[in-house]
Amino acid sequence: MKKKMMFKCLSTDAPGLQLPTTMKAIAIGRKKAWLVDQPVPMPQSNEVVVKLHVSLICGSNMAGFFSEGEHINNGHEGAGEVVAVAHSHRLKPGDRVALAPLNACGKCADCLAGDVIFCKQRPPIHGNFAQYTRVADVMCTVLPDGIDYLLGSLLGCGLGPAYEGIRSVGLTAFDTLLITGLGPVGMGAVALAAFMGAEIIAIDPEKCRRDRAAQLGAAIVLDGSDPQIKPKIMEATRGRGIKKGIDCTGKEPAERLLIDLAATRAKLAFVGENAGTISISPSKDFIRKGLTLSGCWHMNMNDMPRLIEFLQRAPDRAGKLITHQFGFSEAQKAFDRFASRQCSKVALLPWK
Ligand SMILES: [Zn+2]
Ligand SMILES: [Zn+2]
Repeated sequence: MKKKMMFKCLSTDAPGLQLPTTMKAIAIGRKKAWLVDQPVPMPQSNEVVVKLHVSLICGSNMAGFFSEGEHINNGHEGAGEVVAVAHSHRLKPGDRVALAPLNACGKCADCLAGDVIFCKQRPPIHGNFAQYTRVADVMCTVLPDGIDYLLGSLLGCGLGPAYEGIRSVGLTAFDTLLITGLGPVGMGAVALAAFMGAEIIAIDPEKCRRDRAAQLGAAIVLDGSDPQIKPKIMEATRGRGIKKGIDCTGKEPAERLLIDLAATRAKLAFVGENAGTISISPSKDFIRKGLTLSGCWHMNMNDMPRLIEFLQRAPDRAGKLITHQFGFSEAQKAFDRFASRQCSKVALLPWK
């Protein structure tokens, strides 16, 4: 007797047919990017299989690219179509979805609160530098009609960490927001803060990044390598110092700059990863200023409707966050472009 299938499976390319057994995935290492064959994943428990149409390169992938090792299929951003479902009340084959990074159990207290990024019982992560991925249904956000896969893919690291920074400083249209570091995350913060009507001061040593931030809506752009950066920030803030600030560099000089120039009762967010240490004086830096400093890894899934609103109402501004697109067959060019820093988000298209 034939074994009963444990998952519903449907591909809109070939309705009713099973998934293929092998697929293309990207491997990186030693400054090279190349294609390898991998088995197509199958969904288990609350998981779905997504046929990826877009996968974005994240700054956190680059350590693997520059390393001496070999990292196969370690992307974690993207959007695509659900093609197989194990057990899910949330998704069905044919749904168009954006993917939150990594994977999560969907059952723990963090997951139930929408904080899937903090899941302590994280199931194995499949990876999104591939034509298909396998992920828990809670990591998927259904895309409304009118938001294509490219824009939808920004709902991962393109906008998530930046939004969490903006939320945690309580940004309003009345605020002046200082953003240090204009890589893809900082640029996402500029786009969102401009959409919300705040005045933005954006800082980066690279001119092309400052120019792009100005196009996205930054009122003032400053060169972070300028020895006069502190008086320039005081001038730009009309002598008040920094009331609200987001660091996207993950580097001590920028982190200290935000703390040193923080005004009374300032709210700061650290978004850029820094596994090192920086010196802090609790009295001088925090207590005597009433400073609030938040650590922001990623957004809460319950905030996703706001980011979808942003994509629907400001698609042109959001679209500027992705500066380059490459097919999987051009993976080397895609990673070289990201490594050059002459770009913002770089998209990989798995079927080209
Ligand atoms: Zn990322
Ligand atoms: Zn969990």
